[in-house]
Amino acid sequence: MSTQTEPRVADSDEVDVDAVVVGAGFGGLRLVHELRQLGLSFRVFEAGTDVGGTWYWNRYPGARTDSESWVYCYSFDRELMQEWDWPERFPRQDHVLEYLRHVADRFDMRKHIQFQTRVTSAVYDETANTWTVGTDHGQTVTCRYFITAAGILSVAYQPPFKGLDSFAGKWYQTSSWPKEPVDFTGKRVAVVGTGATAVQVIPVVAQTAAHLTVFQRTPNYVMPGRNHPLDDPQRTAIKRDYDAIWEQAHKQVFAFPMDPANRTIADVTPEQLHQVLEAGWEAGGFRYIFETFDDLLIDQRCNDAAAEFVRNKIRAIVKDPVTAELLCPKTHPVGGKRPPLGHFYYETFNRSNVSLVDVRNNPIEEITPAGIRTGTDEYEFDVIIFAVGFDAVTGPLTNVDIRGAHGRTIKDDWATGPKTHLGIAANGFPNMFMILGPQGPFANLPPIIEKQVEFVGRTISRARADGCDRIETTAEAASAWADNCDFLLNATLLTQGTTDHAWFLGANIPGKKPSTLFYFGGAGGYFAELDKETDAEFPGFVMTATPQPQPQA
Ligand code: NAP
Repeated sequence: MSTQTEPRVADSDEVDVDAVVVGAGFGGLRLVHELRQLGLSFRVFEAGTDVGGTWYWNRYPGARTDSESWVYCYSFDRELMQEWDWPERFPRQDHVLEYLRHVADRFDMRKHIQFQTRVTSAVYDETANTWTVGTDHGQTVTCRYFITAAGILSVAYQPPFKGLDSFAGKWYQTSSWPKEPVDFTGKRVAVVGTGATAVQVIPVVAQTAAHLTVFQRTPNYVMPGRNHPLDDPQRTAIKRDYDAIWEQAHKQVFAFPMDPANRTIADVTPEQLHQVLEAGWEAGGFRYIFETFDDLLIDQRCNDAAAEFVRNKIRAIVKDPVTAELLCPKTHPVGGKRPPLGHFYYETFNRSNVSLVDVRNNPIEEITPAGIRTGTDEYEFDVIIFAVGFDAVTGPLTNVDIRGAHGRTIKDDWATGPKTHLGIAANGFPNMFMILGPQGPFANLPPIIEKQVEFVGRTISRARADGCDRIETTAEAASAWADNCDFLLNATLLTQGTTDHAWFLGANIPGKKPSTLFYFGGAGGYFAELDKETDAEFPGFVMTATPQPQPQA
């Protein structure tokens, strides 16, 4: 258990607290630990009534992680790692939430968090070198460091359909699901969307609904999760091997504890190709992508083979050939949209109470009092579930009125796409740090969060040690990083998904300019970049001391 002293006042009289943190999810809680280590005073604002972030809001039926539990957690405290028992390979939302609650209680973090409070603005004052943070309660708090940990998928894309208010039944958005259970028994239910969220919802709702109709615009490559409970010997082995597991995860492209396949498509015969893909498919989760062929996301022939393999699995699982063919993705490569993990997803379409409606060329025109109307048909429902996605990555920042040293908003600065240094800092926004800001790695997020938080801690420590209180990334560093992100993305096959509304390119929100929202150089490469920046004494940042006001003569 930590025993650090808890400073109550800010270092300087000019601010209320040294740091304000936005969000009490994985990132915000990890920041509490770090800021305490630094001896800074801080306050965390959280919109929910409890900690958890993503895992607080997304409590829809079927919600669970797509990362294996033993690396979907913190590694900063060995005792925490040893005492926590994960029940399953891919834990349910309530288990992840329970874990984060445990962390908050165990490390006595709640006293720093003001719940049910949304940060609405943050304005930098160049003369005073302070941020003034405003909330939806009309509060203002001044601070030196403004640190966002608002998640990448926390601003929902609102259902874009006219007539929604007229619907006589009930409708829900997966990203703000009610706390009390929703009963679908005997109900005619619609699910709109077939992304990672809908893929989790559909098999669960199908079990109780009278009839479930799935509205699909773009089919996905859904990998089988192959989830299973963890027994005591498995948990003991994980805890014994934690050091090796995390070391492996810190090197792997997606921050998973997996070794490279050490194999490309050029190394295998057609027979071996099939065997390798079959083994990856059966291993479950993202092992199909990362443990089969190292060139799967960069070589067209390899990706084509992996895509056709999935299509043939769909055709083998789904009995109705018309439905099977509709479920087959054909317009983007594997990875061109973030592949969902399914738990009996394709099998669900063999149920007699489940049907699929293709709305790619026959879009949803409107929501009517009775249900959903496409260009050609009208369907009647008691319940509609919208799983239509998020204004991802930039949305959680551009939806807050954040104004930098030049007086411009971050929304204006990023109108044609974000530019950040390391996904953590933006030029023109001194002393603002972003956990999971744009152009960070596309990867399993808890390890990324931990490394980014440690980097922010190191940066602030270094500035303070030098007597500096203003830290700003340079325009050159941010441009170079953004160019690097463009270059790395273009070296993959992933941009082929742009036309298919991939959220990780910002292409799913009408009017949002598609841009490079992630660093595709791999988690291991990213961690090396963070270390390089630290070892080279932060060349991408300018650290200065604010001139003290001179006493009047
Ligand atoms: P998403 O991947 O953006 O999927 C949104 C779905 O809504 C898509 O199928 C989309 O179709 C559909 N849609 C949007 N507008 C539509 C319209 N006007 N008409 C018909 N369909 C429409 O969002 P998501 O499923 O919430 O997932 C987002 C991300 O959250 C995932 O990729 C993943 O990274 C994360 N997530 C993680 C987990 C986990 O780790 N356990 C679980 C769930 C989600 P198009 O494809 O044609 O745009």
